[in-house]
Amino acid sequence: MTATKVAILGVGKIARDQHIPAIAASDAFDLAATVSRSGGLEGVDNHPDIDALVLARPDIPAFSLCMPPQPRFEIAKKAILAGKHTMLEKPPGATVSEALTLADLARAQGVTLFATWHSRYAAGVAQAREWLADRTPTKVEIIWKEDVRRWHPGQDWIWEAGGMGVFDPGINALSIMTEILPDPLHVIAATLSFPENRATPIAADLTFAGPRGLQVSAGFDWRQEGPQTWDITVQTDNGTLRLSDGGATLHIDDAKQTLQDSGEYPGLYARFADLIAAGQSDVDLRPLQHVADAFMLGRRETVAAFHD
Ligand code: NAP
Repeated sequence: MTATKVAILGVGKIARDQHIPAIAASDAFDLAATVSRSGGLEGVDNHPDIDALVLARPDIPAFSLCMPPQPRFEIAKKAILAGKHTMLEKPPGATVSEALTLADLARAQGVTLFATWHSRYAAGVAQAREWLADRTPTKVEIIWKEDVRRWHPGQDWIWEAGGMGVFDPGINALSIMTEILPDPLHVIAATLSFPENRATPIAADLTFAGPRGLQVSAGFDWRQEGPQTWDITVQTDNGTLRLSDGGATLHIDDAKQTLQDSGEYPGLYARFADLIAAGQSDVDLRPLQHVADAFMLGRRETVAAFHD
C-alpha cells in the first residue's frame, strides 16, 4: 500500500500529543508538510498559511485540521475547495451551521470530510455499544469532571465565544453517549455556570429525555481538583455498564472487561484512510447539536471569576 501524504494544519497541543505520533505509526499516511505560524516541526516542510500550502504542495491530497474551532471553518472551506480530503478535530464547528456547510461543500467537491470524535475510539466504547445493542437502558448518568488548569493551561480560546468552555471536554462524553446508546435523545433542561469574567461556561448540568421515559443526566465541571472523573454509567433491563477513564475502562456488572486498545488517534487515522478509499464522508453532528441545544435551552448562572 502506498501511504497517502497528509499535512497537519495547526501544530499545537493535540497535534504534538496525538496526531503526529499516530501518523508516524501509520502505514496509511505520511506527514508531508505542516501549516504553523509558530514554526512547525523540525525537518518537516512548513508553510505560514493554507494558501501557501495549497500553492506549493499540490501533491498532498489530505489535510488534518488541528487548530481551535473558531478559526477552523474558513480554513476547512479552503481545504475542501482546493479538493483536499479533510479531517477535522472535534468539535467540527463553532456552530452547527458551519459543520453542515462544510458537509455540503465536501459532497459537492467529491472529497472526504471526516468530523472526528476521538473518544469514540477509546478502548471500551465499541464493546459497550455492542453490549447495549440488545438491552434497554433505564437510567444513564454521565460525570465528566476535570481540572481545567491541568488540561488547558493558558488556552485562552476555550474561554472565548465559540470555544465552548467545559463543553470542550464534555462533548467527548456526548460523542460516546450518542455512539453507544441505541435511543435518540434530546436535551430537556440545562444549567450553565459562567465565571463572571469569561464568555464560556466552567460547569454545566444537562438532562436528556429519550423513549420509554428514559432520562440521562450529565454533569460537566472544570473545577475538579484531585482525582479526575470521566465516567458513564448505564443501567439497563439486564445489567449495568460503566465506562470510565473517558471510555478506556469498561465494567459490566462490576466485572472489569478485558479490552483491546489500539489507541484513539490511530483509530481515527485508520478510519480516515478507509473513508478516502471508499470515497465517503463521516459527519455525525449529534454531539454538537446537543451542545447547541444546551446553550439554547440552558438557564445561566454567574459564578466566581476564573483566573488561570
Ligand atoms: P492549542 O494547542 O491551543 O492550539 C492548536 C494550534 O492551532 C496552535 O498551536 C496554533 O498552531 C493553531 N492556531 C491557534 N489559533 C489559530 C488561528 N487563529 N488560526 C490558525 N491557527 C491557529 O489547542 P489544542 O489543545 O491543540 O486543541 C485544538 C483542537 O483539538 C480543539 O478543537 C480541541 O478541542 C481539540 N482537542 C484537544 C485536545 C487536548 O488534549 N488539548 C484533545 C482532543 C481534542 P501554530 O502555532 O502551529 O499555528
